[in-house]
Order: sequence, then C-alpha cells, then structure tokens
Amino acid sequence: MAEKAVRAGVVLRPHFKTHQSVAIGEEFRTFGVSAIAVSNLDMAEAFAAAGWRDITIAFPVNQLQVDRIDGLAAGIDLHLLVEDSQTVRLLEARLESPVGIWIKIDTGSGRTGLTSDDPRAVCALAGTIAASKQLRFEGLLTHAGHTYKGGTPEEIKGIYQASVQAMRGVRDVLEGAGLAGALISVGDTPGCSLVEDLRGVDEIRPGNFVFYDATQWRLGSCAQEDIALAVACPVVARHPERNELVVHGGAVHLSLSHLPDERGAPMYGFLASKAEKGWGPIIDGALVRSLSQEHGVIRARPELVKETAVGAVVTVIPVHSCLTVNLMREYRTLEGERIPCYPVH
Ligand code: PLP
Repeated sequence: MAEKAVRAGVVLRPHFKTHQSVAIGEEFRTFGVSAIAVSNLDMAEAFAAAGWRDITIAFPVNQLQVDRIDGLAAGIDLHLLVEDSQTVRLLEARLESPVGIWIKIDTGSGRTGLTSDDPRAVCALAGTIAASKQLRFEGLLTHAGHTYKGGTPEEIKGIYQASVQAMRGVRDVLEGAGLAGALISVGDTPGCSLVEDLRGVDEIRPGNFVFYDATQWRLGSCAQEDIALAVACPVVARHPERNELVVHGGAVHLSLSHLPDERGAPMYGFLASKAEKGWGPIIDGALVRSLSQEHGVIRARPELVKETAVGAVVTVIPVHSCLTVNLMREYRTLEGERIPCYPVH
C-alpha cells in the first residue's frame, strides 16, 4: 500500500483503528508513514502519547469532548471532521489551539457527511470554516464504505472511481466559489487494494489492509495468504451427531460481524487448517455457524469433527479483523511474542 501511494504521489494516512497497537504502529514508520487516522479521541490521545504528531480523528466531532480535543490540539497537528455549521461555531468558540478541519462528504455510502450531490451546501460550510480564525480549512474527506457492497472486484473499482470523481466535482465547485486548494482524502481497504492507480486524490486512509480478513477475501481485495490475523480457539465440546464442535470463541472474541454462508445464512468465521507454523488454507465446509457470548459453534465435515479432540486448539479466520482486535486487545505473534493494544480505561 505504501509503494502504491508513493507511485501515485498520494499521502498514505493509514487508519490505526484496525490494529490499535503502538508496536504495530511503529512498523508503519519503516514504510515512511508519519500521518495517521484514528476513530475516536481515546485512540488519538494514545497514539499522540506514543509519538505520533499528525493525527486525523476520522469520525464526526463529539461536541462533549471539546475541552479534551483542545488539550490534544495543543501538542500535535490535529485534524477534525465536521459536517454542520453549529459544530464549527462551537469549535471556533471553545478551542484555543489551532486545528485542521475537513468536511465529511457522503459519496453514496449513506452513513455520515454532506452529500456530494449538493456542492453548494459544502461551499457554505467551507466558507464558514475558512472565515474562522482558529480553524484551518483543509479539505474534503469521504469513506466510500459502499465498496463493501460491491459484488465483484470490477464493481468495487467502479464504486471507488465514482466516489473519487464525485469528490473532485465538489472540489471544482469550491474552487469556482473562491475556495481553492481543498485537499481530497479517501480510503477504504477494498477500493485501495483493488485499484492499481490511486492518482487523483491527495490522501488515502485504508486501515483493514494491515491484516485483511474473511470479508476482504470474499470481496476479492486480498488473497487467502494475505490474511495476517486469526483467533486460536480451544475446543471445549464435540457433537459428532450434529457435525459440530464448540469452541471458546464467541461474540466477545470474534464480534457479531457475519457473512452469508453458501445457503445465505449468517456465518461468523472460517476454520483454517493447521500448518507447521501458524495456519494454512481455509478448510472446505468448516465455519462458525453461530455465536453466543463465549461459545462459537463450528459446523464441519464429519472427518474433521471426528479427529478433533476436546482440548485441541483450532484456528478461526474472523469476518472483521478490526472488531476482533478491538475485543481481544492482545496479539500473539507466530514467534510467541505478546503485543498489546493500547490500554483502555
Ligand atoms: N476512514 C474512515 C472515516 C473510516 O470510517 C474507515 C473505516 O471504517 C476507514 C477510513 C478505513 O477503511 P477500511 O476499514 O475499509 O480500511
């Protein structure tokens, strides 16, 4: 991803919400990364304490945290996301330290942001920010989360490109209105993984690509061998009569993120085969078919159920690595090293 960004002349600002680890964050520095995105203020404070000096909180400003935001902005180059003028006025009134401001744009995902279909509303908000003393208008930011709904890699690339075009269209209208120089920040893992030429924007912010997961594999954003995260789950019960194993690996470990199985029913992870070190390919027909708080129920072929003893450890590839990491909060590398996520109080 870093090489692709360099080739395209765009800044890679990886989203650190996926790994939430100071040590893994350090690995990014070796690829020339110096700017990061996070998804909440706690995370921003944790990575600032770890020496990161250029942080975007890629989540709409929580007005209740304005004093803490000001404290953080005193020590680092902090960038915030807004989509309404009331928040802009509050920041202007309450912040003492300067911050960079991005307007969140919705190019079709329908989560947050001003719609790219109404550039005049974006112009009005940009004008309010630009007129402020404390706030530095930096640009337009979107997350084209609808790439996750793309049925094929071609469709995903099309959604990504359409989103970039929509952002450029809004920027052109801003320019026409005398607000030149707005930067464009985009970035989702499916789009950034599949699109080869990332020119046309100023910054990309993918996060999930650090590990990938079952969702990305299904989308075609990565190969199976690219998935770098799995959960080692102890087998606690066997039910050969139902072709099932029960593992200690429930919703509190894997999250409730799901994908459709071959019949369209939800499934919560794939079982991977054993390898001398780590894990091998996903096992055909072996998946987590249901979860409760601590239990994961695995449906597998009769031979696998027969040969797997209670007390064995099986490897589950999670559906969504970001949420799984957020729940587990500690990694074990294949060499046995333990790597914590930043502490949550
Ligand atoms: N930027 C924003 C605003 C996001 O919400 C996310 C993920 O939700 C990302 C970037 C990273 O995208 P991905 O998880 O596809 O890597």
